[in-house]
Amino acid sequence: MAARGVVWLKRDLRCRDHAALAAAAVADEALALFVIEPAWLASPECHPRHVAWTLAALAELRATLAARGLPLVVRVGDVPQVFDDLRRSFAFTHLFSHEETGPGWTWGRDRAVAAWCRERGVVWQELAQTGVVRRLRSRDGWAQRWQRRMDAPEVSVPARWRGAPLQADGLPTLRDLGLPQVDPPTAAGERAAWTTLDGFLAGRGRGYRRNLSSPLAAADGCSRLSEHLAFGTISMRSVHQAHDLRGFAGRLRWHCHFVQKLEDEPAIEHRNFARVCDGLRPGDGVAWNAEAQRRFDAWRDGRTGYPMVDACMRSLTATGWLNFRMRAMLVSFASYHLWLHWRPTGLHLARQFLDFEPGIHWSQMQMQSGTTGINTLRIYSPTKQALDHDPDGTFIRRWVPELDGVPAALVAEPWRMPAAMQGRAGCTIGRDYPAPIVVDRTAVKQAKDKLYALRASREARTEADAIQDRHGSRKSGLPPTTRPRTQARRATATPVQRALFEEVGS
Ligand SMILES: Cc1cc2nc3c(=O)[nH]c(=O)nc-3n(C[C@H](O)[C@H](O)[C@H](O)COP(=O)(O)OP(=O)(O)OC[C@H]3O[C@@H](n4cnc5c(N)ncnc54)[C@H](O)[C@@H]3O)c2cc1C
Repeated sequence: MAARGVVWLKRDLRCRDHAALAAAAVADEALALFVIEPAWLASPECHPRHVAWTLAALAELRATLAARGLPLVVRVGDVPQVFDDLRRSFAFTHLFSHEETGPGWTWGRDRAVAAWCRERGVVWQELAQTGVVRRLRSRDGWAQRWQRRMDAPEVSVPARWRGAPLQADGLPTLRDLGLPQVDPPTAAGERAAWTTLDGFLAGRGRGYRRNLSSPLAAADGCSRLSEHLAFGTISMRSVHQAHDLRGFAGRLRWHCHFVQKLEDEPAIEHRNFARVCDGLRPGDGVAWNAEAQRRFDAWRDGRTGYPMVDACMRSLTATGWLNFRMRAMLVSFASYHLWLHWRPTGLHLARQFLDFEPGIHWSQMQMQSGTTGINTLRIYSPTKQALDHDPDGTFIRRWVPELDGVPAALVAEPWRMPAAMQGRAGCTIGRDYPAPIVVDRTAVKQAKDKLYALRASREARTEADAIQDRHGSRKSGLPPTTRPRTQARRATATPVQRALFEEVGS
């Protein structure tokens, strides 16, 4: 019997180093399929910008694959239903895909697909595409395994497939999908991924470690590969093998390190790593009351009265991207200052981040909210972040034009302007720009008191040991350029290096 193969594309929208496309070379006839799932469109993490970006990447990939004889079929519907429809015109016997570590609805869908394949005798081959290990027994040796996968040669994809004689469908528009018209915030697709990487390696990355922390410098000085890695328009292995930048390999490993947590414990998108934290904040077993909603709205709309928080949120809403430090500050402010549960704030950010990657996102949301049980509490002062990383207020003024006339010395804390100065600056606090929504010092003290008291309990310490054992990073034993920093190196670090250490956790 002839083998008919379907390559089911998900978050792997590329041709190069693609194990599932390579595997389909054995088929007598093959096609590639992308399914636009109603469950995705309806999920609270999905923003029309994610869909716009995906459609643009698919348009390019369809042409790339067609030139190699492989039709790309794009359908809208639930996956088992789409498979049934497709089988009427193309009775496929083999399904090839990459493993996916996604939100809960994707696990449910994959279980339905497994059952569908079993019932119809279709062989489903799922292949790894990053350093994330399925059914991992222990974190011991994980970093070495990651390194081996990244050092392995790229998978070679055939120059030509024996394509199924099928007419490729047209791509739906956003309007067809019932979504508002938006443009992808950045150039989408495999070519753009390589252009972005090349630009980073050829010059933009020169000041990488220096530029990471400032929201202004990072926009150009970071690699800006995150959406490409999240949608798979470039493989992590290709990026790993192309660069020789210090400090960068570690970040690629963190990517997989955090995704591994969701792979090992899918529940962490909904519930605290440390269950002793359950019921701590409104939205987490404690009623989400009118005050919580008022705080959430102000944070979401960039109207908290803290200029650095508001500038970051408005910038993110407009561009779909923010550097690590400012993402962490936004979450820290919501979770500690405003005392909101990380799930509703995390859903808002997931929609805004073009690079939404569930495993990184939910792990980081919890890390920056103090609910992992194993990470040091890090509470960012928005004023200090502004003074350190936007000393003349350029970034703040760009996104919070109400503060345009405020002198540089007070642009991070405009509430300190005397009334006459407010008049001269054309910015009356409480009228033109909000007064601070909470008092920084008081709010932080209350948050610290609650969390430190919780962490001191015997129950919390026992639980933390178990979490560390299951999810914590180990000493990797990797060579120095890629080895995570040790406590000793931390102690002798320069301020810039310390800023880097602050960004990771275990
Ligand atoms: C609350 C919060 C939520 C986040 N959500 C996401 C998310 O949904 N998707 C996402 O890709 N990143 C997320 N990050 C991590 C980080 O902020 C982004 O990866 C980074 O800003 C993307 O820009 P870049 O590609 O230019 O990064 P670069 O600094 O150039 O890093 C290169 C790549 O390394 C990986 N990486 C870098 N920093 C981290 C990190 N701290 N943890 C894990 N991987 C990292 C990413 O894949 C990134 O693309 C989140 C961070 C926080 C604090």
